[in-house]
Amino acid sequence: MITIGEKIASIKGQMPASVRLVAVSKTKSPELILEAYNAGQRIFGENKALEMKDKHEILPQDIHWHFIGHLQSNKVKYIAPFVKLIHSVDSLKLLSEINKEAAKNNRIIKCLLQFHIASEETKFGLSVEEGYELLQSEEFKQMGNIRIAGVMGMATYSFDNELIRSEFKYLMTIFKNLRYDFFLNDIHFREVSMGMSGDYQIAVQEGSTLVRIGSSIFGEREYKK
Ligand SMILES: *Cc1c(COP(=O)(O)O)cnc(C)c1O
Repeated sequence: MITIGEKIASIKGQMPASVRLVAVSKTKSPELILEAYNAGQRIFGENKALEMKDKHEILPQDIHWHFIGHLQSNKVKYIAPFVKLIHSVDSLKLLSEINKEAAKNNRIIKCLLQFHIASEETKFGLSVEEGYELLQSEEFKQMGNIRIAGVMGMATYSFDNELIRSEFKYLMTIFKNLRYDFFLNDIHFREVSMGMSGDYQIAVQEGSTLVRIGSSIFGEREYKK
């Protein structure tokens, strides 16, 4: 049997060392997470605020918890004290709530803007226009407890590799345009979160800096969200 540690090593062996691996542990038990932790993994991704909070409380404190799913404004308070990066900001309203909770905790919370890049209707995310509106808004400019660290996107769930590649290229274009238009002298704006179990090799070829991988490490999910 291949261990979790061996799976992580094999995935990392296929990417440049500069690409960071987010081990997506949603629905997975603390025991499995500890197995990955003991193999050296430190970044874990969750998509439910309360599940993340519960796991944070009982697992090693040097774990970096990344929130990767759709986040409801009223759940931000559960993760604001400790979350290291929120990949999935898709509205000004959510960002404003994160800013408020970050201030309460005396923190600056790093966030990525999630863009809709897939041809599927179902995926969350901002359009390019909405992203520009958000970044140009007075409300955003007044937020003192947020740091926008880059962008995130999910490609269409498909076997068509060229479709997936074109969607990742599109996200890279959005990233470069935003960097030029808003973050030219900001070294913190540098992350492109793209790539999952089925498509991370393509994502890495196209310039991903953070891949979010669940089933290739932990096996198939027990249930779908
Ligand atoms: C579940 C999930 C992943 C990981 O998916 P796998 O196919 O299991 O690797 C990545 N990103 C997001 C946003 C997810 O919800």
